[in-house]
Amino acid sequence: MSKRSLIDRDRASVWHPYTQMLTAPAPLPIVKGEGVYLYTEDGRRLLDGTSSWWVNIHGHAHPRLNQALIEQARQLEHVVFAGCTHGPAVDLAERLIRALPAGLAHVFYSDNGSTAVEVALKLAVQYWRNIGQSQRRTFITLHHAYHGDTVGAMSVGEDSIFTQAFTPLLFPVTRVHAPYCYRCPLGLERATCQIECLADLEQALHTRGDEVAGVLVEPMLQGAGGMIVWPAEFLAGVGRLCDRFGTLFIADEVLTGFGRTGRMFACEHASVTPDIICLSKALTAGYLPLGATIATDEVYEAFLSHDRTKTFFHGHSFTANPLACAVAVASLDLFQEHDVLGRIRRLEAQLRAGLLPLRELPMVGDVRVIGGVGIVELVSDKHTRKAAGYLDGIGPRLADAFLKRGLLLRPLGNVVYFMPPYVITDDEVAWALDQIADVLEDFPAV
Ligand code: PLP
Repeated sequence: MSKRSLIDRDRASVWHPYTQMLTAPAPLPIVKGEGVYLYTEDGRRLLDGTSSWWVNIHGHAHPRLNQALIEQARQLEHVVFAGCTHGPAVDLAERLIRALPAGLAHVFYSDNGSTAVEVALKLAVQYWRNIGQSQRRTFITLHHAYHGDTVGAMSVGEDSIFTQAFTPLLFPVTRVHAPYCYRCPLGLERATCQIECLADLEQALHTRGDEVAGVLVEPMLQGAGGMIVWPAEFLAGVGRLCDRFGTLFIADEVLTGFGRTGRMFACEHASVTPDIICLSKALTAGYLPLGATIATDEVYEAFLSHDRTKTFFHGHSFTANPLACAVAVASLDLFQEHDVLGRIRRLEAQLRAGLLPLRELPMVGDVRVIGGVGIVELVSDKHTRKAAGYLDGIGPRLADAFLKRGLLLRPLGNVVYFMPPYVITDDEVAWALDQIADVLEDFPAV
């Protein structure tokens, strides 16, 4: 084994995601994780303020999850899931169905969040085809949406810097207003509005309804598109409109699932049940890649046929990987044994108390909090709300300033957010909020 530092070895051979390799600072060489902390090769301790890209919930190297992984590895590490089954996959499906809004009953496994979304899109299109309505093959999605980086998932995301280079590959969709209240698409104020932005979806369904396979949304919290927190009324309205126009309601809960918004699933905020839900990220508590797309009886039954053309021809080598499923079951055990949702409620209260006062700072445009996520949107002019968006150079500068203080954050351009694993203690939250406040108070000197 080479004694050279990880960074030197990495530079020679590794291509990192979302990273301009020519100009980016050297990647952080992480050698260990424990609880909410990550440790670098050169001995620094960093608080994982983004839950390692929104996946970790119970902390790094959790003894119970480690144990579940080891026990499963001793038993069965992997097996083809077409024609075979195994305990962890069945147990996890049963547990998910019990935890999800009633009606979601059939679990299709894949590998990650993007594939969970791809599966949902393909299920929706084939569902309509199988029941003789093959004209329903387009999707309505929201502005600011992000659903992943594979081609289908990019197509249904916002037309943005993330997707521009790939436009020739993408299929067309209809994009309608999102309830981005701080930048209301209709120029209204949340305190007095009646969720008028929903009319855009209604109009799209009215004009294109017969062609629409599904309406796809990230309920309550649009993540990579700017950490946009919704009024629950908008989500309720999406559910109502999908029912009224008889189209499929698809919820992408890859980010929001497993407590992140304060409820086990974000759809619970408006008591809506989608026809299809997509899960990943915290599904395995951040241990292993796994996706799950869960559908209702109605969707599933459209695939029950002797006609082979009605089969769902989709699968990945690592579909339902037993190691990942076993850890996911152990993670759900932790939800049952500890009051995890209660912990998130306390975290939410602390985030509100610590972050809301930052609204007074000259460059803070908006502060939003939902569940275990605290968000500060920066602007260059408070009155015009001007901001440079994802490519705003302030993001990396702030990340560097936080890093120097031992806090690992990854702002989305001008949007700073804090999304720690739920096991973070009150003292650790207080410390992290102090770092955020101090750095922002010093801005633009950072
Ligand atoms: N959907 C949502 C809402 C996401 O936030 C993400 C990733 O950030 C994805 C899908 C894609 O997940 P993955 O990165 O695992 O492919």
